[in-house]
Amino acid sequence: MTKIFNVNLSNVMLLRAQHLMNHILFIYVLSSFFSYKLFLVSVFIYAIYASFGISIGFHRLLSHKSFMCPIWFENICVVLGCLANGGSPISWVAAHRMHHAYADTEHEPHSVKHIGRFRTYIHFWNKIIFKRKIIRDLYKKPFVLWMSKNYFLFLFLYQFSIFIFFGLKIYCFVYSVPAVLAFHGYGLINSMGHSNKAEADTSVNSFFINIFTFGEGWHRNHHNNPNSYRIGFDVNQCDVCAWAIEKMGFKNRIN
Ligand SMILES: [Zn+2]
Ligand SMILES: [Zn+2]
Repeated sequence: MTKIFNVNLSNVMLLRAQHLMNHILFIYVLSSFFSYKLFLVSVFIYAIYASFGISIGFHRLLSHKSFMCPIWFENICVVLGCLANGGSPISWVAAHRMHHAYADTEHEPHSVKHIGRFRTYIHFWNKIIFKRKIIRDLYKKPFVLWMSKNYFLFLFLYQFSIFIFFGLKIYCFVYSVPAVLAFHGYGLINSMGHSNKAEADTSVNSFFINIFTFGEGWHRNHHNNPNSYRIGFDVNQCDVCAWAIEKMGFKNRIN
């Protein structure tokens, strides 16, 4: 078992410090210069992070390799996923593959059954220890590897540029508020996407979670069909990300 990249303690602490700072700035925004128009911009940016960055990029493409697309599209998704502030691409994929491989066991990084909903929600997970082979395919992707090794440098330069060129107010609405929304959106799916009942498959489908995660709410479907880019199967299971993948003409890898 090997630990790599930003899953070691110091970098997890850096990530938590970033989450804490974003929440403090979010409260500052609410108390000092809240603007409905700028908040809508934040929601739009969150929607881009959550859909193209996390759901399509980190999840359906990098973690499950469920569809084929040009490398430029993959790289854009990787950048957007990094901006969502949920960890580097490789650490995210490692945690997610461990989630599927060891669901509801103590080896899973964020098992509701073992660490509870609250710790799962606030990203205070078990230390992620995994075999290197679980992410071996990502070593062959130079951009993914570079972004994973330089994740915090990239985040710092992005934030610094926004702050220097546009000031604190725009920095908060463009960076901090969308990152806080992403923190809670994915806290929601990790903590509520599984029950803590004594069942073989604890994953659940949830319309409520789906409102905030653009197709990821049909989590039981996903556990039953992890290699499908489509997660919402029925006509009443809206899956915006699968719709976007199809509209862009990308093909399911398993077809
Ligand atoms: Zn799950
Ligand atoms: Zn998955």
